[in-house]
Amino acid sequence: MVLVLLGPPGVGKGTQAVRLAEEFHGAHVSTGDLLRAARRDGTPLGRKAQGYMDDGELVPDALILDLVREHLSEIASDRHVVFDGFPRTTAQADGLGGVLAGLGRTVDLVVLFEAPDETLIKRLSGRRTCPSCGAVYNVFFNPPEVAGSCDRCGATLEHRTDDQAATVRRRLEVYQEQTAPLIAYYEGSGAAFERIRADRPVEDVYADFRALPEVAK
Ligand code: ADP
Ligand code: AMP
Repeated sequence: MVLVLLGPPGVGKGTQAVRLAEEFHGAHVSTGDLLRAARRDGTPLGRKAQGYMDDGELVPDALILDLVREHLSEIASDRHVVFDGFPRTTAQADGLGGVLAGLGRTVDLVVLFEAPDETLIKRLSGRRTCPSCGAVYNVFFNPPEVAGSCDRCGATLEHRTDDQAATVRRRLEVYQEQTAPLIAYYEGSGAAFERIRADRPVEDVYADFRALPEVAK
């Protein structure tokens, strides 16, 4: 199954994707994580992406599609794939359709997670991430056992620069302008489309996600 998780920044896509991919032994593909890894490694892609990310803007479609194409080629064609934070534009969605068609696959299910902006802003202001193992915490909702350090690997947690208030505002605008049109795009496609209210505890959101007919079967 190929699953696309849609929704604004901070709605909990990554949190839910990690859980589902773990349970189904699927591949979790987060373009945000791939770009941050490219930045840390100082690759040409990482250097090109840096300014866009820090400004809360989208990285150009061509760069993202090359990244996803390369990454998908390393994933077995019978493995479940959970896309998180991709696609973010209709051009990326068209590109994804083409890449999947070349692999004899298609987008099977799109899940839209929804929450009010106040919830997103609070979650992003409290998000802390581990630069070493990628674990995600929240100082309000899911704090680490020892403040500031990762429960899993002990590394010092970071507050992403793009989670600062001014950049968050821009990212929410960018979502409305460039990514929200994907709702109509996918509702009119052959893929199943589901909506989940995400302003509830992680466990409750996951229970609804897990119970979707396309996931439960
Ligand atoms: P996204 O991938 O959509 O940007 P994340 O999964 O990184 O969102 O979640 C954003 C922040 O909110 C993180 O700090 C995460 O721990 C927290 N979070 C995620 N889901 C919930 C939830 N249902 N309730 C409270 N906090 C949550
Ligand atoms: P995320 O981790 O999904 O919140 O993404 C962080 C930042 O990485 C975004 O604000 C964009 O600058 C960039 N990014 C991640 N995924 C994409 C994508 N699919 N298209 C364009 N830019 C992206």
